[in-house]
Amino acid sequence: MAKKDTTHENHCSFCGRPESLCDMLIGGNDGNAYICDNCATQAGLMMGLQPPSESAPNQADNKSADDQWLTQPVPTPSQIKQHLDQYVIGQDDAKRVLAVAVYNHYKRLRHSADNTADVEIEKSNIVIVGETGTGKTLLARTIARMLNVPFCIADATTLTEAGYVGDDVENVLVRLLQAANYNVEAAQRGIVFIDEIDKIARKSDNPSITRDVSGEGVQQALLKLLEGAIVNVPPEGGRKHPEQKMVQIDTRNILFISGGAFDGIERDIASRLKAGVIGFGGTKTREEIDRHNMLRYLQPMDLKKFGLIPELVGRFPMLTHLDPLDRDALLRILTEPRNALVKQYKQLFAMDEAELRFTPDALEAMVDHAVQYHLGARGLRSIMELVMTDLMFALPDQPKGQTVTVDRAMVEQKLNSQPQP
Ligand code: ADP
Repeated sequence: MAKKDTTHENHCSFCGRPESLCDMLIGGNDGNAYICDNCATQAGLMMGLQPPSESAPNQADNKSADDQWLTQPVPTPSQIKQHLDQYVIGQDDAKRVLAVAVYNHYKRLRHSADNTADVEIEKSNIVIVGETGTGKTLLARTIARMLNVPFCIADATTLTEAGYVGDDVENVLVRLLQAANYNVEAAQRGIVFIDEIDKIARKSDNPSITRDVSGEGVQQALLKLLEGAIVNVPPEGGRKHPEQKMVQIDTRNILFISGGAFDGIERDIASRLKAGVIGFGGTKTREEIDRHNMLRYLQPMDLKKFGLIPELVGRFPMLTHLDPLDRDALLRILTEPRNALVKQYKQLFAMDEAELRFTPDALEAMVDHAVQYHLGARGLRSIMELVMTDLMFALPDQPKGQTVTVDRAMVEQKLNSQPQP
């Protein structure tokens, strides 16, 4: 492509962009200095002003979005669950817990907006425990899409105690602020999903004497956010430094959902069960215990044993688990969700005016491979890619209107031709 000649244009004095590449270029009085829309927004941010954006063009619009939010109907728990059912297979317990928590989140926000209310409803932060690849992030993302509150995902593994290499805990709120288009009011009623919370467990059951920068220290720092505090947040993220203007965020009404695999927690649950301490209902007989899914018996004390400090566990009153995905669940994941892999590939073929079909045993062969090599639901995507790449490569050069059928032999041939994981 020929490069555009920008030599005779005015340029932004800060970033150097030519006028033709800016939405707006504002000139100074002397006609020598210019600032583009981008740099003006950045400058505004540094001074604590809110940037204009498509969804929140100005303060007045933000204000009306706030009012709208108070009057819009709240989805009921069963509606929230129905929505989740369209995208997430199984995991009914977690869906119900999440649906109730989110519904209550809305209710308490409205309740606290009502100045005459005298009972304060406490928030119910949630921990979801489940093997990796069983749908924790998918659940969180799917909920976020249906809600009209700001939502962000933060990774606990990147967090360190203030002053050490890594992200300060406050940066979790920076993401939320960004998701809220820098509308502080909206961010203050948002939802934060903290992934891999198990990775900040302290390494031994005894409180540490030496500093545990990425474990207990981070848990302590997170406590402050979860408890509800006014937190100073650098709007652009990164380290706090004295000359940066801070935004204050009140975390009292932010709902925190956290997820983790808690590898090995089943062993602790099993030994607790063996000792006969289960739930509120007393002991269970050996026969009643589902040995394949120990997570069903998860209790807050197991999280403490794993290395979360009691104060942190106490800040997550709702605890739920995800079931491991069996063969049947993997098969359903391939075909049933609204954006199931099979549906996506059929769509890709339809765009090239071809029809794609999978025989049932072709799908079973893919699932068998995922089960055999413990690839889980996440592995289904790469298996599908492997099977489909050659077909997709050839498709655009083929005559239109044809039907392509993928059968078991084809799947096995493709999978066997690859080095095994
Ligand atoms: P994690 O539990 O590690 O957060 P993810 O939610 O990221 O797992 O799942 C990885 C991928 O596997 C998802 O993007 C989705 O495609 C698929 N998946 C996992 N569990 C389910 C499920 N229960 N229903 C539908 N798809 C799922």
